[in-house]
Amino acid sequence: MERLKHRKEKITPFLKSKFEFLKTKYGEQHPYYKGLSLQYFVSDQNTDEKFVLTNLKHYEAGVHIAEEHGFIPGLERLYRRTLVIEPTLVCSAHCQFCLRQNYTQHTLSDELLVDVAKYCGDSKNRDILNEVLITGGDPLLIPAKLEFLINALIRYAPNIRIIRIGSRIMTQCPEKFDASVFSIFSGKSDVRFELGTQLNHPVEFFPEAGEIFDRVNELGIKIYAQNVLLRGVNDDLETLVALYELMRRYNIESHYLFHCCPIVGMQHLRPSIEKSLALVRGLSMGGKISGRAKPMFAAMTDIGKILFYEGTIIKKKGGLLLLRSGYKLSERTDWNPSYEAPASAQVDENGFLTVWYADGVE
Ligand code: SF4
Repeated sequence: MERLKHRKEKITPFLKSKFEFLKTKYGEQHPYYKGLSLQYFVSDQNTDEKFVLTNLKHYEAGVHIAEEHGFIPGLERLYRRTLVIEPTLVCSAHCQFCLRQNYTQHTLSDELLVDVAKYCGDSKNRDILNEVLITGGDPLLIPAKLEFLINALIRYAPNIRIIRIGSRIMTQCPEKFDASVFSIFSGKSDVRFELGTQLNHPVEFFPEAGEIFDRVNELGIKIYAQNVLLRGVNDDLETLVALYELMRRYNIESHYLFHCCPIVGMQHLRPSIEKSLALVRGLSMGGKISGRAKPMFAAMTDIGKILFYEGTIIKKKGGLLLLRSGYKLSERTDWNPSYEAPASAQVDENGFLTVWYADGVE
């Protein structure tokens, strides 16, 4: 439990003002207050004394882009057509259930960003890589560096047609979504921008965030959101329905609904997969939300995202589930020769990776 002691709170002045407002208006036991506080406050509810975190990262999929650099922190390639680039690992606030606060902090130099752009456009990648996800950390906290990277991609990797940017500043510190951020999107008609965010509770649709979503929509930029299923925050149908209704109102596309990933000290926030699947079934099959708003339920495992279809769960053993993936180890190593399967994974008789994944609690 050594690492739990080091879990820190980092909460923006904007979020602090919202906590004050919600506490005064509703009290600390109200779902609105808890919908936010459980995401950001270190909890004493930890129930996972025996729960061991084996990985400090979501997955190990570093990319070796050039001899002189070795592995560059902040690059991951699990999928054929998309490269993940993390120019910084600094976030404006720490979401307690996020593994990224365990990562070693970095901010990539401009020189490295140019090399990353050249890697995206080199002869091995230009026919298969057409999308990047620039995330972190929060890349919108460093707009000048982000724009530098985007310009380098436009110059050296014209094959990159879609640039996704992941950020939570809209709901954590909306004042930082200023003119310097909006200007990033202008005058770059050769690429399509998509803005990804994370929304876990209806209370996060603060008026300040709503204004930004409206303005981004007016620019014609697609906004999408992933959501994390969290015990006590949104693990009930009513809250999920309200969340997806609001996303629809703001023209925010549903992406993944993630099972909260295994991370030491967070078991109290992780519903069981069985309960999660029942909720997702109720959400998607009961006619309660628009068919255009239905999310994909996924677990973020050591080998990447796994969607839950019939047959995904192969077996259960001592709080662990063995999950079937659609990933072939041979394909992974084709497009990322540096990739090595983690100890929790195996290759089945058809060459597909299976992986052990820690279940949540009832
Ligand atoms: S803002 Fe995003 S990357 Fe940063 S801690 Fe929260 S979920 Fe993780």
